[in-house]
Amino acid sequence: MFMRISSKDMQKHLVNETIDAITAAAAVDAKNVPFDVQRVRSDFPILSLHIGKNPLIYLDNGASAQKPLAVIEALARYYREQHANIHRGAHWLSEEATRAYEEARVCMARFLNAREPRECIFTRGTTEAINLVASSWGSANLFPGDEILLSAMEHHANIVPWQHVAERTGARLRIVPLTPEGELRVDEFHRLLSSRTRLVAVTHASNVLGTINPVAEIAAAAHAAGATVLIDGAQSAAHFDVDVRGIDADFFVFSSHKVCGPTGIGVLYGKADILNAMPPYQFGGDMVREVDFERSTFREIPERFEAGTPNIADAIALGRAIEYVRALRPAGALAHEDALLSYATARLEAISGLRIIGTAPRKVPVISFLLGNTHPLDVGTLLDADGIAVRTGHHCAMPLMKTLGIGGTVRVSLAFYNTFEEIDRLADSLERIRRMF
Ligand code: PMP
Repeated sequence: MFMRISSKDMQKHLVNETIDAITAAAAVDAKNVPFDVQRVRSDFPILSLHIGKNPLIYLDNGASAQKPLAVIEALARYYREQHANIHRGAHWLSEEATRAYEEARVCMARFLNAREPRECIFTRGTTEAINLVASSWGSANLFPGDEILLSAMEHHANIVPWQHVAERTGARLRIVPLTPEGELRVDEFHRLLSSRTRLVAVTHASNVLGTINPVAEIAAAAHAAGATVLIDGAQSAAHFDVDVRGIDADFFVFSSHKVCGPTGIGVLYGKADILNAMPPYQFGGDMVREVDFERSTFREIPERFEAGTPNIADAIALGRAIEYVRALRPAGALAHEDALLSYATARLEAISGLRIIGTAPRKVPVISFLLGNTHPLDVGTLLDADGIAVRTGHHCAMPLMKTLGIGGTVRVSLAFYNTFEEIDRLADSLERIRRMF
């Protein structure tokens, strides 16, 4: 009898070789090259758009980041040269698509510092990843009287799925309040944490306030109390290297589109033993081991949670996005973002009547503010007339807005491809708008 090398082992070997080569090349590229924002901007075709007669100033990166050519080309290349269904065909093209898809998973594991690639499940994004955990883990692990601890700064995506599963299981939500600066009240967190706490689900960084939460400290205390921990990384993955093992997160979720990757894809990281003990979330092809009309058995991760044909092209392009941003980070992208945040904060603070909401010492480059009594939507519309794209409203954090006693804010969210000149243009426009009212 012939022994075949399992295609999984073969893929693992090929994938590791390719990723090592890409990472090594990126490291060489990054060495000794000062951060050249204009060169980086030339990688993003959309940044040379004009809105009317004004050059686009894109300051809505917290909602979604723009895409570099590497990502756009990875998508086109996939459909030109690599497309077939994965994990199924005996033919070359199917193996090629499978190799590229699994290579993207390895890339996610490196990005998050997961123990193994199989701990990274591809989902549609942060929202679907949290729904998956709430539905699968939640329905198996939550019982009447159990508590789910959230913070007051959560996005709707990290509130509503828990509300829904709490209603079905008899669990209830407890909310950790914030300081006036917009930091999580760690003292209150410890007070609310108890043997009833089954899950702590907090954002790594707030999409409204910019606050970076002490997630490793939160996870350690939660584990000591016997709770499981989910970290919403939608805003953090775009701005710093994440270490899920360092945090000791049981689950960590993020969306590709905020990290310069395509829309419609994201990652659920989970510890292998926890994920494998969870019931499947969706059922169908690829996630089954054996099917009979009477009953079926299911595969382990990652296939367990990837029923049906996945979003192959976007997973591969997300891999390219992650390689792209990882190569820029040691080259100064993060320091550039920090400098932009300090500069923008100082320029905005100098505008009379402008109030920044969220002044924690550790922030991602997100600045929410109010300009006198001017409605945020009016400010956003007038900025748009100058070609400046910002976000206005409640930012999918209505409970936070209610806590703050406001209806919404204007939000500027920066990326490594923004410039000091763009911030000057923003500040000048805001000065003009202020004088109009
Ligand atoms: N959590 C946070 C903190 C976010 O900022 C967002 C996106 N605004 C989400 C969750 C939801 O992400 P997505 O819409 O990509 O699923």
